[in-house]
Amino acid sequence: MQIKANNPNLKTWVDVPPGSDFPIQNLPFGVFKTRYLSPVAGVAIGNYVLDLVYLHENGFLDGLGLPPGIFNQRYLNDFIALGRKKARLVRERLSELLRHDNEELRDNKAAREIALIPMQEVQLLMPVRVPNYTDFYSSMEHASNVGAMFRDPNNPLLPNWKHLPVAYHGRASSIVVSGTDIHRPKGQIKPPDTDTPVFSTSRKLDFELEIAFIIGGETKVGQSVPVDLAEDYIFGLVLFNDWSARDIQQWEYVPLGPFLSKNFASTVSPWIVTLDALEPFRTKGPEQQPEVLPYLKTEGERNLDIHLEVLLQPQGGVPEVISRTNFRHMYWNMAQQLAHHTVNGCNLQAGDMMASGTISGPTPLSYGSLLELSWNGTRPLVLGDGSTRTFLEDGDTVIFRGYAEKDGVRVGFGECKGKIVNEK
Ligand code: CA
Repeated sequence: MQIKANNPNLKTWVDVPPGSDFPIQNLPFGVFKTRYLSPVAGVAIGNYVLDLVYLHENGFLDGLGLPPGIFNQRYLNDFIALGRKKARLVRERLSELLRHDNEELRDNKAAREIALIPMQEVQLLMPVRVPNYTDFYSSMEHASNVGAMFRDPNNPLLPNWKHLPVAYHGRASSIVVSGTDIHRPKGQIKPPDTDTPVFSTSRKLDFELEIAFIIGGETKVGQSVPVDLAEDYIFGLVLFNDWSARDIQQWEYVPLGPFLSKNFASTVSPWIVTLDALEPFRTKGPEQQPEVLPYLKTEGERNLDIHLEVLLQPQGGVPEVISRTNFRHMYWNMAQQLAHHTVNGCNLQAGDMMASGTISGPTPLSYGSLLELSWNGTRPLVLGDGSTRTFLEDGDTVIFRGYAEKDGVRVGFGECKGKIVNEK
């Protein structure tokens, strides 16, 4: 697929600092507000946000067939419901407007000063209203680690795991944008030395490093999306933290899976990086053995090479990296997840969020949760300030970062961050 906006040689007249997550080749979509503006749609470029309402209302997006007011909304849902092709037209046009040799906006000082808002003057908001949230479990390393810890180290995967992308339906209402405080959850916990549960705040609060994709089209109940067309329904990706209370989870999850241990909050990064912008970073996934059923069969490069890191910042301290991994390790790819999700006729809605499941790599420093990094609390991490962690403490901030890089172009996600608070 030829996408002009992805050309690594493109340059912009906007000042983009080296190492920025948001060069002209990215152009991720989000929703922001300022002291003077109610929430509207924008696109990130360097340290600026481009106001799409202003551009639309002043003729810069003419000819793209966009409905009036499409960007003047609290959420991007109506825009992304127009489909991936329409979003591609908008991104291509924005790329053109921002090119170093295009004078339309560059030489229109009045327009430029209104349309480009310094990032530090905006508040980034939840970019979509999430109708439905599904959490997969698609990292073989993660599923194996958990299976080894709680079941059988010699046979950690359950019999279904390599035949279908395992998932559960999560809670959409408590998905919050990066920067939102996370309240330490309370619930039932059964300590190992008692026969009955106690009511307590969670003592084993954890993060899960994930990437979620956001659905950009609608299907009807009864309709299935074939695996080869699945990517047409993916608008873009965000970093995703599936906060998890391990002690609540361990007691409640039998037989229907996690409930209150997960649904108290999940955090997403504010910028939706389009699947179009990630095209150059395609890579092959792991070989799938045994062979999957025909409805799940994919060919070619269906995984994405996205570097990921987790930083932990104690109260009053500095952030330090506690894990580095890569999205490329995922056993099940997004097309397979989506084909499986709809194979029974389950319908999709624009804004649906489908998270990957914890992304763990093959080495102990590449695990995507504290459960694995501390091996369920048996191997405490030692931080730079000399303190140790098995699970999260009050005042800890967890920060995810992610970026893809190739041919001198870095396409990044910004940050996905949340701080643990506890009102006693
Ligand atoms: Ca998860």
